Amino acid sequence: MPTLIKVAKFGGTSMADAEAIRRSAEIVARDSDKRLIVVSATSGTTNLLTTLCSTLPGKEKRAIVDQIEEKHRTICSQLKEPKTTQPGIDKIISELRTLSEQDIVGPKQKDAILACGERMSSLLFTAFLNEIEPGARWFDAREVIRTDDAYGSAEPDIEAIESLAGEKLRSLIVSHKVISQGFIGSDSDGITTTLGRGGSDYSASLFAEALNADVLEIWTDVTAIYTTDPRIEPEARPITELSFDEAAELSVFGAKVLHPATIKPAIRKSIKVYVGSSFHPDQPGTWIVKNPKSKPVIRAISLRRNQTLLTVHSLDMLHRHGFLAKLFDVLSKYKISVDLVTTSEVSVSLTLDTDVQSSAKNSLSEQVLAELESFCDVEIEENLALVALVGNNLHATAGLSGPVFGSLEDINIRLICHGASSHNLCFLVDSSHADQTVRKIHKTFISTRNSTFNS
Ligand code: ASP
Ligand code: MG
Repeated sequence: MPTLIKVAKFGGTSMADAEAIRRSAEIVARDSDKRLIVVSATSGTTNLLTTLCSTLPGKEKRAIVDQIEEKHRTICSQLKEPKTTQPGIDKIISELRTLSEQDIVGPKQKDAILACGERMSSLLFTAFLNEIEPGARWFDAREVIRTDDAYGSAEPDIEAIESLAGEKLRSLIVSHKVISQGFIGSDSDGITTTLGRGGSDYSASLFAEALNADVLEIWTDVTAIYTTDPRIEPEARPITELSFDEAAELSVFGAKVLHPATIKPAIRKSIKVYVGSSFHPDQPGTWIVKNPKSKPVIRAISLRRNQTLLTVHSLDMLHRHGFLAKLFDVLSKYKISVDLVTTSEVSVSLTLDTDVQSSAKNSLSEQVLAELESFCDVEIEENLALVALVGNNLHATAGLSGPVFGSLEDINIRLICHGASSHNLCFLVDSSHADQTVRKIHKTFISTRNSTFNS
């Protein structure tokens, strides 16, 4: 009898081939509390399926389906009894052939095509788990994950999911380990939908919420969330536990962390989230919880490269209102997303989101610049990196900036944002100083286990 309810999600790399699936299945078999397993498509499959949805000559489409078929057949052939599972895979492949033969792929067909990846991988996972521990059941996520009909990035209906889970899944997971699909759902007409790329974490979190799970586990290919990127600072160490807020800040500032938006349903019910590697299940992973035991001032340092700083000056700003509104109107018109903002009496500096910045540079920048220059002077600086210190109570910690900036005496700090969030302090440095800055701060605050700031 399980004592807890754990929902465990395995991402694409944990499903890459027979060996990875078997390793993942062993993780599940070892723990009687893992009741619902949510899987991604085998790695690379969703990309192939996406290509299949584009306009391609029939021959190329057939080649892609062949490739997908071959990949899943190979995994299936590694089972002790492939014959039990192969027909299920074949059926999905033949559906896929039919779907991909249509000339024009509309949003509905596209979701039906994309859903094939998770449908197949979950069949395989069920079979591999059954070899180790009989009794596992395959379950169609579309019976529970009810969404609207915004195909491609459907919005889940939380109440419906809760009630469908109660009806179809809650008692099943007590008697069986159940394997289902991430990423896919269905609308109220029963038509297949998807939650958007990378949506499997979101699915797992929705299931966890609906089942009132105790734990949501995300099994991936990184062992843990680190105090900083170990490639920059070899003394970086895995973080045992951090809060939902800290995880949010870290992911915003570019650390490779689970994005909190995807685990929001778990956060709503304060379900503890574990991130670990299915490749090294014995290495400790990271817990993301509501109230971590320790709340150090500085938990981790993240670095985001390729930052562009836009500074606008205008004497019109002096004792006037409406300037910022006008500035942000222009940025929003061109869908430019802003990260940091600092202002003085006559100027405003802001950093632009990296992705947007590249498109801004190509086509939009001339227009945006022209429009901004019609009411202010504009200066653009590139080759900057954003360093973020993430932790707790940074805004109210006396004596913090001394050691932070003291440790960076010989580095030029271009802009500082401090105080808007209690969970971060961030600043820009020249790209060439980025790694050095991260190392210095890590040494000062984390490697030394500085008792004032890093308990
Ligand atoms: N298979 C889907 C994708 O690659 C969903 C996921 O893996 O999260 O986007
Ligand atoms: Mg994925």
